[in-house]
Amino acid sequence: MTYNIDKNGFYGEFGGAFIPEMLYANVEELRQNYLKISNETSFKTEFENLLRDFAGRPTPLYFAERLSKKYNTKIYLKREDLCHTGAHKINNTIGQILMAKHLGKTRIIAETGAGQHGVATATVCALMGLQCIVYMGEIDIKRQSPNVARMKMLGAEVRPATSGSKTLKDATNEAIRDWINNPIDTYYIIGSVVGPHPYPDMVAKFQSVISDEIQKQLLEKEGRENPDYVIACVGGGSNAAGAFYHFLDNENVKLIAVEAAGKGIHSGESAATSVLGKVGIIHGSKTLLMQSPDGQITEPYSISAGLDYPGVGPMHANLYQTKRAEFLAITDDEAMQSGLELAKTEGIIPAIESAHAFAVLDKKPFKPDDVVVISLSGRGDKDLNTYIDYFKL
Ligand SMILES: *Cc1c(COP(=O)(O)O)cnc(C)c1O
Repeated sequence: MTYNIDKNGFYGEFGGAFIPEMLYANVEELRQNYLKISNETSFKTEFENLLRDFAGRPTPLYFAERLSKKYNTKIYLKREDLCHTGAHKINNTIGQILMAKHLGKTRIIAETGAGQHGVATATVCALMGLQCIVYMGEIDIKRQSPNVARMKMLGAEVRPATSGSKTLKDATNEAIRDWINNPIDTYYIIGSVVGPHPYPDMVAKFQSVISDEIQKQLLEKEGRENPDYVIACVGGGSNAAGAFYHFLDNENVKLIAVEAAGKGIHSGESAATSVLGKVGIIHGSKTLLMQSPDGQITEPYSISAGLDYPGVGPMHANLYQTKRAEFLAITDDEAMQSGLELAKTEGIIPAIESAHAFAVLDKKPFKPDDVVVISLSGRGDKDLNTYIDYFKL
């Protein structure tokens, strides 16, 4: 019994690769090679060196003393907000750009919603001197202009997706179309633990450096490798997958996944995918997704752009269905208050995505000697205007 992936690319009933025949060769090439390549010593050395010297790892595991006093428990923050480009996403893009290089690919494509994954991808393409094309919904291009400027400055071409709702899912469709048309030289960097097998597993393994470091750092600080709780926000699920990874099969470690309830789970404006979702197929993966009764994907909403994905990665769908992880949904208002609280209590302004994870402290009583690790997935600089508008700062 394991909560990790099986040899067919499934987590329980979720996962797999449900893709058009035109994509089969690309995905199959990756599936056959990703484990072999990522286990080579030369790959591992290069990955570790870049994580250390370029991304700034290991990130600290910080004992939040004032927050711990306030909630009468032991709270540690895993500081992914201190990574280069401001969030955990860089761990994955470094891993995948190395994978692309080892596969001999010269042209990189990606899709982005808020622009964070686009920036992380443009960053590693500049690092490696590879051509980079980022698909982005026309509406998102207008909403996220600073990130568009960053991508351009890093040398990427940003191509607008003008169909449908002109947001993330349309950008994803454009990227897939590009990949079908350019199967030989192009590598598609997916930004979370979503998409067809082997992407969810590959991304989870690249992000697993987070829980690997948590174990070593906790051993040093608490004399034990395993916390009592790990809490992480979930959009597609990559920072949570990384923070949970080495604890998945140790049921003494309780896992809490936090989704965005937006304006309320049943308000019609939320991204509480596991609660509201039904089994279906999105971006090549069988998982839980928000859909209308006739199976159309519904537009998600959250105040944090990084959490408004209509599906959830297959690992998390299985953690939800098996009850291995507890899923909580946090509203915009609750997340914003928690972001402000973290700023005033610890001197850290979190990304609004990450702020959702902190709102759990108000929902669940922890015991005084519980060790609670919270994934602080990103920093709040990018969200300053949202904080300003919300709190009238
Ligand atoms: C993108 C993003 C997320 C959501 O993505 P996951 O794949 O669920 O981790 C969470 N936090 C931050 C700071 C992000 O940028």
